[in-house]
Amino acid sequence: MLPSEADLQLLFARLNNEHFNGAAPDCRIAYNERFSNSAGRITYGRRPLLIELSPKHFRKYPEALEETLLHEMVHAWCYDRFRDTGHGLRFRRKMRECGLGSIYHELGHVRPHRESGKRYILRCESCAFEVLRRRAPRKPTSCPRCNHRHFDARFLLSIYEIVALRPAEKAGARVSATAASAAPPRH
Ligand SMILES: [Zn+2]
Ligand SMILES: [Zn+2]
Repeated sequence: MLPSEADLQLLFARLNNEHFNGAAPDCRIAYNERFSNSAGRITYGRRPLLIELSPKHFRKYPEALEETLLHEMVHAWCYDRFRDTGHGLRFRRKMRECGLGSIYHELGHVRPHRESGKRYILRCESCAFEVLRRRAPRKPTSCPRCNHRHFDARFLLSIYEIVALRPAEKAGARVSATAASAAPPRH
């Protein structure tokens, strides 16, 4: 049985006290049934920040849930303090403080392939335009499809991080390409 979303919120509060002295910013924790190739993700473009977890994934790997939530919380904390969305020095330092061993969740024991260093999906919530990026953009970026002339704050791209990959069930040899580019209807 997966914890309810209310329980997740309590788990968040507990981890916040244990590892962040209560200083992790408010986050809403939700399940997203549509996640198929990622365990969790954080969305920075709104307050409270949104952390989503894959119920499919954690039905299989319930023991990994807390670690995944904690990983996303380290992101929330880094973003809140430094506007840092990456896995750089600050992230790693805080992650080690929290007792997390790897920047990738060991969940499905699948890591992104080295060949594809693309770990972020930029998505327009208006038109569903999506693009993969190696790094999270340093400043707000707007959708090139909704307004191709200039920056337009109405169409800010949301930044999603790919935190775990899972081989596609039927894709055989094309597994890595599929997993790397298949942004779930979202992520
Ligand atoms: Zn758009
Ligand atoms: Zn991460």
